[in-house]
Order: sequence, then C-alpha cells, then structure tokens
Amino acid sequence: MGSVASRLAAASIRDWDIHRGTAADAPSKATERFGSLAFNDSAQKARLPKEVYKALRRTIANGDRLEPSIADTVATAMKDWAVEHGATHYTHWFQPLTGITAEKHDSFLVPTPDGKAIAEFNGRELIQGEPDASSFPSGGTRSTFEARGYTAWDPTSPPWLLKSTNGVTLVIPSAFLSWTGDALDKKTPLLRSMEALSAQAVRILRLFGSDARRVITTCGAEQEYFLIDRNFYFSRPDLINAGRSLFGARPPKGQEMEDQYFGSIPERVLAFMMEVENELYRCGVPVKTRHNEVAPSQYEVAPIFENANVATDHQMMTMETLKRVAPKYGLACLLHEKPFAGVNGSGKHVNWSMSDEYGNNLLNPGETPHDNIQFLVFCAAVLRAVDKFQGLLRASIASAGNDHRLGANEAPPAIISVFLGEMLTDIFEQIEQGGAKSTKKGGVLDTGVSVLPMLPRDAGDRNRTSPFAFTGNKFEFRAVSANQNVALPNVALNVAVADALDHVATDLERAVASGKALEDAVRALLARLVKEHKRIIFNGNGYSAEWKVEAKRRGLLNRPDTPSALPELLKNEVLEAFERHRVLNARELRARYEVMLEAYNKTINVEGQLMVLLATRYILPAALAYQTALAQNVTAVKAARASNGAGKKTLMAMSKLLDAFRKRTDALQAALEHSSRSAEEHANHCRDVILPLMNALRDVGDAIEVQSPSDTWPLPTYREMLFIK
Ligand code: ADP
Ligand code: MG
Repeated sequence: MGSVASRLAAASIRDWDIHRGTAADAPSKATERFGSLAFNDSAQKARLPKEVYKALRRTIANGDRLEPSIADTVATAMKDWAVEHGATHYTHWFQPLTGITAEKHDSFLVPTPDGKAIAEFNGRELIQGEPDASSFPSGGTRSTFEARGYTAWDPTSPPWLLKSTNGVTLVIPSAFLSWTGDALDKKTPLLRSMEALSAQAVRILRLFGSDARRVITTCGAEQEYFLIDRNFYFSRPDLINAGRSLFGARPPKGQEMEDQYFGSIPERVLAFMMEVENELYRCGVPVKTRHNEVAPSQYEVAPIFENANVATDHQMMTMETLKRVAPKYGLACLLHEKPFAGVNGSGKHVNWSMSDEYGNNLLNPGETPHDNIQFLVFCAAVLRAVDKFQGLLRASIASAGNDHRLGANEAPPAIISVFLGEMLTDIFEQIEQGGAKSTKKGGVLDTGVSVLPMLPRDAGDRNRTSPFAFTGNKFEFRAVSANQNVALPNVALNVAVADALDHVATDLERAVASGKALEDAVRALLARLVKEHKRIIFNGNGYSAEWKVEAKRRGLLNRPDTPSALPELLKNEVLEAFERHRVLNARELRARYEVMLEAYNKTINVEGQLMVLLATRYILPAALAYQTALAQNVTAVKAARASNGAGKKTLMAMSKLLDAFRKRTDALQAALEHSSRSAEEHANHCRDVILPLMNALRDVGDAIEVQSPSDTWPLPTYREMLFIK
C-alpha cells in the first residue's frame, strides 16, 4: 500500500463496478424463498409421520422430553430433506463462552462393503455430539483431564442448511455441556432462564384468570454495523486483529452534517444487504428493516421479533452472514462496538417482552392503560427487576469494546435506569399516592397535516439516551453491544424478572388467600413497588452530567468500565437468584465472570501490542522518512540562501512529535510487560495504566498523521475508509 494513489487504486469498489449486476439470484418470490432452507414446522409436518410430528411438536411447545424412539425417525427425515438439498455434512452448531459460534462438521457418508457409500444419520447422532471441550473457555468449570463435553440438539430452534461455495451443510442448533452437566455455553442458561420466567409468570396469569400454561420471552435485536472497502481493511492490522482502528486522525467531515441517518443507501451496500437478507430469509430468519445509521458507513439491520431462544440463534446467524457475504462485494463488515473514534459506535438494541402461549404480549397496555392492571403488574415487576439487578444487567453487557460506548460520552450511559415515558410515569405516580384517574391518555397524535392519517400514539414515547426504555409494548435494552451474543443480556433480564415475578406472585397469592379482593391487593402491591423502586425511573437526558450526580443521589450504580462492572455478577443476591431459579449454579456463574474478565485482559493486551507494532513498523518509519526529507530540505534551502521559515518550522514540529511518539511507544511497551498476581489486578492495570498510555500514544500518532504528507502515509485514513462507498 503506501501512496494515496495506490491505496485508492486498491479499493475494491472498482471491482464492484465491474461485477455489478452479476450477483443477483434468479428472481423468485421472497415469500417462496422464506424458510426454504430451514427444517421448520412445515418441513417437519410434510416429512414426519403424524404421530412423530405430534410428539416433536409437544417437545417444542411444552419442553417435554423427546422420546429416543422418535429421534431416529426425525433424524432420518431431516437427513433425507438435507440430502435432497445437496447436503453432504451435518454439524452441531453451538455457542461456547467465546462469544462466537462453534461447529465441527461430520459427513453423512458411510462406506458399504461393495465399495459404494450411503448417507446415514441416526437419532443418537442427531441428539448428541461429542466435541472435545478442552479448547473452549470454561472459566475453570472443567479441567483438561475431563475434557469431554457434549452438544445436545435444541429441538426448539429449527435446523437449517448452510450453503457455501462447494457444498451444503446441515446445521443443528445445539447446547454445549460438560460431562458433569455444567453449562459450557450461552444457550443452556438462556433456555433455563426462559423456563424460570415462565413458571413465575404463569402464577400471576392464573391470578388474573388465565389458563395459560407457558410464557415465553420474545426478543428482536437490532444490529448496527460498519462496512468499509475490504482492501482498506486488509491494510489495517488493527482492524484485522482488534476489530477497531487504534490510530487514525478524525477526518474534516465526520457525522456533524447529520446527512447519513436514514439517507439513501449506496448501491454497493444495498446490493450487499439484499444478498444478506436473501440468505437469511431462506434460513427462516425474519429480517425486516434496513437503513443507514448515524455515523458514515454505518448501517442497521433489524428482524421481526421471535421466541428469544430462536431469536438468539438467528441473531448469531445474522452476524455470521453479514461477515461472510461482505467480501463478495469487496467489503468488510465491522461488528466492533467502536471501530472508529470520533463517530458513533455500534450497539445492539435488544427488544424484549413476554408472551403467553396464545400470543398475548404481557407488556401490551391495551386501550386504556390505566385499567389494564395486569399490564401494570408485569410492568412494575420489570421496574423491580431492573432496580434490584442493575449490577447484573450492567455486567451482562460488559466488555472492553462496549466500554468505549457506555463509559464514554455516547450511546446509553453506564448507569442503568428505566425510561417509562410521561404517561406511564404519571400513572405509577398516581398509584403510589393512592390516586386514580390519569389524564394523559395515549390517544391520537395530530400530525397537523390534513393529508396525513392520524397516527396512534404509543404509550411510551421516544428517548434515545436511556439504556432501558419502554417503547409502547416492550422494553428495549439499548446498552447491549454490537459484537456480543444476546443470550447473556436476555438471561440477565429473565432471571431478574423471574425473581421479581416470584416476589409479586407470592405477595398477591397470599393476599388473595387471606380473602382480599385481587384488585385491592394489586393496588397495595403496586403502590409499594413504586415507592421502593421508582428511583430507577429516569425520563431525562442520560448523557448529561447532572444525571450522574442525580443517579448517585438516588443510590444507583455507576460502573463505567468492565473491571468495575464484572464483580456485580458475583454479588450474593445475583448468585442466589441464579441458583433459586436453577439457571446457573455458583460454579457456572463464576465461570462466566472469569471468561469475561479474561477476555477483557486479552483484548486490551492485543490492542496494546498492535499499537506498538503499528507505531514502530508503520508510523515511525514513515514519519522518520519525512523528517529526513524535511532536514534535507532545510539544508538545501539554506545552501541556496533562500528564506525557509516553513521548512524549519515543520521540521521542528515534526521532530518534537516524533520524540514524544517514541517515548510514549516505549512507555506502552513497558506497561504491556507488567505481570500481575491475579486476573482482577491485571484488569485494573489494563484500565488504569495501559488504556491511558494507549490513548496518549494515539494522540501523538494522530497529530503526526495530520502533519504528514498524504501520499506516504502508510495506513488508509479515516477519510478514505469512511467515505469511499
Ligand atoms: P423501533 O423503531 O422503536 O426500534 P420497531 O417497531 O421497529 O421499534 O421494533 C424494533 C424491534 O423490536 C424489532 O426487531 C421488533 O420486531 C421488536 N419488537 C417488537 N415487538 C416486540 C416484542 N413484543 N418483543 C420483542 N421484540 C419486539
Ligand atoms: Mg430501536
């Protein structure tokens, strides 16, 4: 790379121009493509004997155990279906604690004595796989001498076909456990937490006269991401290895013109999005919305919500598909929370609600929220959950990458609070004071333009600064990070809410048993809950400095970084709740803590090393060469007896910067060699010593970039990466 001309010549946007229009699929109806590569309900119905189909459906709907006798039939039908679509292999696809997914492929092929082969797949192979678990992080739950782990088919999430360049693989969503039954993955606690919440929610529904037997949590996760030209990506070791740029001066134009959000989507990007959507549709992932985001080259994709377990699998598929398809369009997809300093970072808004088996959304206020006391009970339970388990929720989204958003001055703040909106807050305040009628009804919003229809107004209005907002009929957990698996934040919410629902149900059951009318019992309970937990409600500006002061006064937690947030996972009340609701035992929970802490340390360590590498092997050589040229200029101009204020001044400035740059590189290098007694101590060292040194080094590096000739700068610049689309 090197010169600006060669950098630009290398941008693969040119290849894209040449190949434009050749990638499109043969036109067919999206409705026909949707789910065509998923072994979903309709494929199961079409392929399985009636009794087997019914048994499988019972397993899926009620969580009944799958009888081994039917597993063989299901396996054979699934294999036949997959083979007809060209599949040669199958894999148990699971979500270890690394944060990404894992897969080991096995062939269906079994050689026969006559030298031929047949495709085979039995129930045992479907239900259970046995990958060696020793290379996955376990946070100490399993030592290498008992390395066996096993993957268990999750029948509630439909298998799908992964089409790649030279073949097709049947992908079987699975849980991953140790031989002793400890959860080594993200799916197992998610499934357990949904069970836990269901059990408690059903108790409350029963009091309100419902005969529902199961409640599921629902999830719709909006994914933000960046796309940049792939050849720029390849010229940035920091993007390749750390996912974010560690040097890079801010471009003259960033996002200040506010001309990107919802702007028209560049042709190459739109082509990419359409292929991603097409792939996801075929696998049954209901992606719905696409648009430009706030920062240049930042975009968003959002699905229609689903059962939280399926939604979590589909979210992982979405991230994988984004990354896999991008190179076809000469692009690289960046899912890091903060790939570029100075413009917005990327988050993942996790929309969350609860639904009974009839599809009733338990957080839907209905026509007159005030009278809808069941809604208010569930809503108040969420308030209690978030207030009581602020620390858990905060810890569930803690990572080195997300610290750039939450701890810094952007996106949601690190303080967890709930935005309820004016009307609901008003209702809760009146309940607390024992009052009754609310005047602020969620009526109709007059658009003021007569050709436009009257828009119904959501009970929750908009607030972009809250980490946890009620948005009409669901909560939106906005502090979740772009890169992370959404399972843990879902688990945290489910456990917290299950715990609150347990509290609520016990209170109401007791009151009703003692002869109190339900309505009176609810009124008393709500008044108490509001009194106890209203400190968590905040409808104001979450970015403001006043909020930090106010939150402190209210006694809310402020954990601005990962090392201070993670210990919240180990608090007694968190552990107790996880154990009581049988979601994770102490060992399993501690494992999550250790893996997350370790990931933080490793991330900062890699970033620090990369900065030293970029400093010594890219920036310094280029800057020294420039310094030499400047010195030669000064000598030559002096010999010519011409005046040379500009040359001398530039040389002096550059020399000063270079001295500081070298010094700061050495300081960072030395800090990276630090050895710590414990992971906790090392995390503090990363936060308190390494990160500040990295920032200080970057400041000088970026100043050097601004002073350097553009055609010898060794790295693609922000201006190039963010604006060549
Ligand atoms: P917004 O524009 O406010 O973000 P949308 O209506 O576009 O809201 O929805 C955002 C996301 O929330 C979508 O993925 C949507 O499917 C999801 N969502 C809607 N209702 C629910 C619900 N009951 N449970 C979980 N997610 C939901
Ligand atoms: Mg949203």
